Amino acid sequence: MPKSKNLFYYITLFYHKIVNSLTLLYTALKYRKSTNIRRIEMKLIDKQVHIYSPEEKKIWANEAFVPQVDIRLSLQLEDGNIISGALFNMKRKGQEENHYCISTQAGCKFGCKFCASGKNGWNRNLTAEEMAKQVELLSEVGGHCSVDHISLMGIGEPLDNMEDSLAFIELADKTYPGCEIALANSGIPNKITALANQVNRPIIFWLSLHSAIEAKRQQIMPIANKYKIAEIIEASRYLANKNSQNHVSVNYMLFKGFNDTLEDAVALVELLRGTEKELTLKLTMPNNSWNIYEPAEYQDIVSFQRTLRVEGLKNPISRLLTAGKKLGAGCGEFVFVPN
Ligand code: SF4
Repeated sequence: MPKSKNLFYYITLFYHKIVNSLTLLYTALKYRKSTNIRRIEMKLIDKQVHIYSPEEKKIWANEAFVPQVDIRLSLQLEDGNIISGALFNMKRKGQEENHYCISTQAGCKFGCKFCASGKNGWNRNLTAEEMAKQVELLSEVGGHCSVDHISLMGIGEPLDNMEDSLAFIELADKTYPGCEIALANSGIPNKITALANQVNRPIIFWLSLHSAIEAKRQQIMPIANKYKIAEIIEASRYLANKNSQNHVSVNYMLFKGFNDTLEDAVALVELLRGTEKELTLKLTMPNNSWNIYEPAEYQDIVSFQRTLRVEGLKNPISRLLTAGKKLGAGCGEFVFVPN
């Protein structure tokens, strides 16, 4: 064989070897993700349990869920970072259900002012296996209880860790068939659209809005400086229409004197006009105070709801009173402890 031909032969061989190795690596990674093949270590370092008294349950009397028992775990990852996960045993229409709230990142980059999870910064994304392990440990601590609903709403922004969040959803779908899966997002339109296009099962989605007025939203959520509210709503509508079984909500956390005025109600009604069939509204009682503003109480939520109706809001409205408050396991209360 002439020398030039020889050289061509070796270059081709080398090229094929590289391509084959990369394909193998990709397949192995995909396999690892979809089968939870590598068992990971996660150390249980703290467990808190709260059992609701009949007195405590009274506030939920008119709501969709009535909490029974909350469990919160602090879990140390292999690299020393400490995250949290919670299990909420609830009754919906008299039937018991177990709701799991898990973390998707070790810390959070987004720094929303009303949330404790980003206060200590961000270290890394969690793997799909680390998400699955949280559910496994919580179920074990709860007496191997059923997994009916999983929320990716603990520490971290799940759509900032899209690949592993989607891999986890696929894994959970196989492990707990029929389980509801929910996730929240601080309002990143391209990620919401990507979720709509890539997720292959019905999803419950909460958009963290908290104000329909750009300047106010920017005061509490740094990400609001980057994306316009209209774009985020458009992406959320796209997600709602992508699968008729998707359930998309706008989450509005109420702070007294900050975002509960008539001007706020009018702006919200205007924003949601025309989305009645696509978006529902959740009015949420915050767990943390923010700046000089106090968290709204139950009656404040009810009265804001009334104002919205008077101003013409047609979207379905639900009130969200988070469980887990006694244990620091309510919305925005998990604290990340970096290594
Ligand atoms: S609300 Fe979500 S996105 Fe915002 S800081 Fe908390 S965990 Fe991060």
